Amino acid sequence: MRLHRLMTVVPALVVSMLSVALDAQQPPEWTSPFPPFHIAGDLYYVGSADLASYLVATPKGLILINSNLASSPPLIRKSVEALGFKWSDIKVLLISHAHYDHCAGSAEIVKETGAKYEVMDADVPVVESGGRADFAYGSDKTMRFAPAHVDRVLQDGDTVSLGGAVLAAHLTAGHTRGTTTWTMDEREGGRTLHMVIVGSPNVNPGYKLVRNKTYPQIASDYTQGFAVLRSLPCDIFLGAHGGYFDLQQKYEKFKGGDRDAFIDPAGYKAYVADRERAFEAELKRQGGR
Ligand SMILES: [Zn+2]
Repeated sequence: MRLHRLMTVVPALVVSMLSVALDAQQPPEWTSPFPPFHIAGDLYYVGSADLASYLVATPKGLILINSNLASSPPLIRKSVEALGFKWSDIKVLLISHAHYDHCAGSAEIVKETGAKYEVMDADVPVVESGGRADFAYGSDKTMRFAPAHVDRVLQDGDTVSLGGAVLAAHLTAGHTRGTTTWTMDEREGGRTLHMVIVGSPNVNPGYKLVRNKTYPQIASDYTQGFAVLRSLPCDIFLGAHGGYFDLQQKYEKFKGGDRDAFIDPAGYKAYVADRERAFEAELKRQGGR
């Protein structure tokens, strides 16, 4: 009797743990709509409540940063059109890094708009294999996405230019081999504001920072990435997830009339320092330093 009860309880427990894990993988904020809005200069927010997408609007067409989940393109399209732009005017598609929550929608967006897909070199195999080449998640089918052809392979320091807008690609690897932090200078109200979209400085649960056979230089890449993030001048602090820069709270202030709600150089510095401390603590925990 006891054994029988145990056997029925255990699978139920496993199932509930699995569903917790799945929920943790895909929080509701990833798919809940968020009002699109003008950030500064030619930059707009077109993402969901947490999965950030950005639109750069130029006289020669649009640049979209992050295609998000496979289910996200219709949501992004709605935001782009609500701002008065044409979906088919997207000429260039960029990503923060090659994880399915930032790039799974790329194949569809490229198909619908004919945009050129431009990706940092070390993330290209992951994007083109639909996640199979990922150093950590390559064998995890739940992390897969539709493969997409990359039209231009970016190197660290490359720029992406369209209609007068210039975005710079900074390699800030570790989270993926090609994690990219995007910067751009925005003209707003007679000022030039340095904008930073952080690619991801986070060490995911289960990441091996020492003796990692599939990504031996992971720890030194994170260290180098933090040096880059610390060196970037930042006025407008943004990132691949709204949670990095408190999107929801800042948007409330913005809606209340604070046009400078997203100008947060101190918040940027504090965020980078906090993430670097978290990385160092995890590295130490794994016996790496
Ligand atoms: Zn990621």
